[in-house]
Amino acid sequence: MAEIKEAINFIHNIIDKDLEEGTYGDRPVYTRFPPEPNGYLHIGHAKSICLNFTTAQKYNGKCNLRFDDTDPLKEDTEYVESIKEDVKWLGFEWDELYFASDYFDKMYDCAVELIKKGKAYVCDLTADEIREYRGTLTEPGKESPYRNRSVEENLKLFEEMKEGKYKDGEKVLRAKIDMASPNMNMRDPVIYRIAHAEHHNTGDKWCIYPMYDYAHPLEDAFEGITHSLCTLEFEDHRPLYEWPLIELEWEMPPQQIEFARLNLTNTVMSKRHLKKLVDDGAVEGWDDPRMPTIAGIRRRGYTPEAIRDFCDRIGVAKTNSVVDIALLEHCIREDLKEKVESRMVVFDPIKVVITNYPEDLTEEMEIENNSMNEEMGYRKVPLSRELYIDREDFMEVPVKKYFRLYPGNEVRFKGAYFITCNEVIKDSDGKVVELHCTYDPETKSGSGFSGRKVKGTIHWVDAKQAVKFKVREYDYLMIEDEKGENILNPDSLKVVEAYGEPSLANVKPGERFQFFRKGYYIADAKLCTEDEIVFNKTVGLKSSWKK
Ligand code: ATP
Ligand code: MG
Repeated sequence: MAEIKEAINFIHNIIDKDLEEGTYGDRPVYTRFPPEPNGYLHIGHAKSICLNFTTAQKYNGKCNLRFDDTDPLKEDTEYVESIKEDVKWLGFEWDELYFASDYFDKMYDCAVELIKKGKAYVCDLTADEIREYRGTLTEPGKESPYRNRSVEENLKLFEEMKEGKYKDGEKVLRAKIDMASPNMNMRDPVIYRIAHAEHHNTGDKWCIYPMYDYAHPLEDAFEGITHSLCTLEFEDHRPLYEWPLIELEWEMPPQQIEFARLNLTNTVMSKRHLKKLVDDGAVEGWDDPRMPTIAGIRRRGYTPEAIRDFCDRIGVAKTNSVVDIALLEHCIREDLKEKVESRMVVFDPIKVVITNYPEDLTEEMEIENNSMNEEMGYRKVPLSRELYIDREDFMEVPVKKYFRLYPGNEVRFKGAYFITCNEVIKDSDGKVVELHCTYDPETKSGSGFSGRKVKGTIHWVDAKQAVKFKVREYDYLMIEDEKGENILNPDSLKVVEAYGEPSLANVKPGERFQFFRKGYYIADAKLCTEDEIVFNKTVGLKSSWKK
């Protein structure tokens, strides 16, 4: 299980008070994460997962994973499986796994009981009529002409609804609460609807399905949940959450506590929008590394540790806000910086010929694997007469403060020698294709040479032994246009060819590296094949995150 971080939040203050007052007797603190299996989980869900599971851990309580699958039209087993995988990957273990659909019988019985108590009725108004009758924020609603049906008639009609006697939309079961309530949610909300649809779990057993607001408190109550944590948009629904439990005289009912949703800059964060991106082919699937889905950011190279750290840092509050995506990036850098090995990789190569280097010599240079973590040791990197460097590390006419390679300048080649550029070779278009350089054998890295200093260190790979592969460089999925509106970034993916140290030939999918001076990268879990290596850029090295 993931470790607990002691994030003090207002929810824990409520729980502390409940424990002090014995609100739940000797029952354990019990939470649940209740996703609807209608899409893949995103980083916003991670916030809810971390909150629910770490709260249970903190109080030695329990936490369930419960699929809130009350809408057969949108739900699918593919989503169920992905959600389980994601929760586990984040480092959490649920105590029990349930489906809301497991409770359809019990929920039906509860509805019958409510009808018997005169608290629910079958209504024949259409959806449009129900909306009209509902009134507005300033005007009370109007009672349905079916509101005063007898208990017997309601029981009979509700049973017929269940037996499939009516078409979709022909009848609904409504809670009998108060059509004049200032809270619109309490104006006789629909609690059951007819949907002749195949359910991913119950098949065609049911053709009536409970509505979320009615089903959720019952699910919580059946499982012995004490603290039902949900996002702020449900605040106005709280009286409705409490309603069936009060009417059914439930002992020690669960309480709903709302917290702020996570919103992030430069992305979209709702399954509905994410599904549209997938369906429209705007991305390569739910696990496209540009997506804010757990599956996407996992492929992108994020670690569960980084995501948990992020959720810890953003905290849990009662007001909505938008978190800068730079904080998420900061967290992955922090997690990887001492954990992964470094490799030298060149994206847009210029060949360097070291004219005074012996023709058939290859030396093995010893280069540290992680400059911040001595324990990660050293690796051997071959160097011979012909090397590649990155085009951006050379300027024929250097700008001010350019300390990399230019004619007449000397730089250190990382872990190797001081190299001076003497001659620039161009093709017929004037493009630089080759640099003729010399090296100073005295300056070998680690030799203790102290004769003179250079200002720039650049990376290189051996031209003969370099491994060629693909790198997918990502930019934000969403950007702001001139009007400040969020639009899909047309340049969110750039695929480049790269040349890396020979050791990269043996990379395994899922392996992470820091590409020296570039950023953190991961060998893609899906696209790497026998013949081709593909890396995803996880994050660049420079941080734009400011505390
Ligand atoms: P979406 O709008 O993306 O479909 P949802 O709230 O409908 O999200 P559910 O599957 O119902 O998704 O969510 C499961 C749990 O995750 C709920 O308790 C919900 O409040 C929480 N959750 C969803 N999105 C966020 C978010 N952005 N930040 C924090 N919690 C979230
Ligand atoms: Mg939802």
